[in-house]
Amino acid sequence: MSTLSYVDESADSPWSTYLAQVDRVVPYLGPLARWAETLKHCKRALIVDVPIELDDGSVAHYEGFRVQHNLSRGPGKGGVRYHPAVTLDEVMALAAWMSVKNAAVNLPYGGAKGGIRVDPKTLSIKELERLTRRYTSEIGIIIGPQQDIPAPDVNTNAQVMAWMMDTYSMNVGATATGVVTGKPIHLGGSLGRVKATGRGVFVTGREAARRINLELQGARVAVQGFGNVGSSAAELFHGAGAKIVAAQDHTGTIVNPRGLDLATLMPHVRDSGGVAGFAGAERADDESFWDVDCDILIPAALEGQITAARARRTKAKLVLEGANGPTLPAADDVLGDRGILVVPDVICNAGGVTVSYFEWVQDFSSFFWTEDEINLRLDKIMVGALRRIWDTADQHKISLRTATFAVACERILMARQERGLYP
Ligand code: NAD
Repeated sequence: MSTLSYVDESADSPWSTYLAQVDRVVPYLGPLARWAETLKHCKRALIVDVPIELDDGSVAHYEGFRVQHNLSRGPGKGGVRYHPAVTLDEVMALAAWMSVKNAAVNLPYGGAKGGIRVDPKTLSIKELERLTRRYTSEIGIIIGPQQDIPAPDVNTNAQVMAWMMDTYSMNVGATATGVVTGKPIHLGGSLGRVKATGRGVFVTGREAARRINLELQGARVAVQGFGNVGSSAAELFHGAGAKIVAAQDHTGTIVNPRGLDLATLMPHVRDSGGVAGFAGAERADDESFWDVDCDILIPAALEGQITAARARRTKAKLVLEGANGPTLPAADDVLGDRGILVVPDVICNAGGVTVSYFEWVQDFSSFFWTEDEINLRLDKIMVGALRRIWDTADQHKISLRTATFAVACERILMARQERGLYP
């Protein structure tokens, strides 16, 4: 359990989940285990008040966070989430998972994350802009192209990143495109970034399926969360011949054993805000999503969705964690015992930050790559990272999650050791 006074002590909280994952990797860290406690602390956590004037003239206050978990390997990197359930505990865990993820794919970054406790759907576009600009100003004391580089996460997108980039640039008196990634293309954004996380889920899923002899042609896929990550991954699996048999988001659950027609579902979600009401599927009870007949399950919504009880029910052979922290540690054990392969978040959804890294490099060099170059480099990095993790898992007979932590934590703690403890 945590030694920190301000975290959620409940066993299922995101930070508790992360700590349990760290405990599992310690026996595989060799002499570096003496530094393992480093992983259980965030370097820096900033809580900010974000007051904005609403369109009706009243003033509302929102709580914002930016957490830098570990900066031993480079500047902080990680998204910004707008959600009514955001807490410091959650942002700490998300920042820590970014440290692990960035090290797992060997990007020269530490881990960071941010968020505002707000339901953005209740705000007008102008209120959202004011919220984003004030939040950026408040966290401006710790972010920067060489310090900490935010990106999109749940309920944030390229427009939010453009406002963040503009606000930071105004405050420092120079256009600083490298301060955020996931920007619009004409503001230094990268081709391929919008779908990069979903593409990474597909690439790691394709490799994992090959290893367990699961044919993608005709494979049945269930996707929870049909936003940026879930819908992009669904499109790529669909393109590879798989059938998307179920989709769930905050508006409801839809199923079609013959496969959802994505060409009509995508515009329906864009126009109506969710999957509910889609004519080409049956509406299902939300809990029944976990019983759907499928080969591949892609959680791509929020943390803690796969509980031990749901893990006992799923019919999937392969779980691809598009979301961060979707599987509770007890559920991990159930899935392992049932022989269900889990490609963990810390490698599965690393495609987004990998292309964010490409974006940052392109911004610094002011030289931009083609989408084909980006997708090829992404594929190569993801496949190489997964192979290294798989070898580690085979060597120690451990899960892919613990193997990813082993590879990543060794890199983080080696940097820690080589830099030495200041002062
Ligand atoms: P998004 O805002 O585009 O989509 C989130 C989706 O989750 C929406 O479809 C929403 O309806 C659904 N959702 C929310 N609450 C739900 C609930 N209670 N039950 C079912 N569905 C629910 O966000 P995103 O960027 O796609 O992020 C999804 C997940 O992927 C998050 O865990 C995020 O941290 C992770 N992730 C995102 C990126 C990225 O590049 N955007 C990168 C790595 C990981």
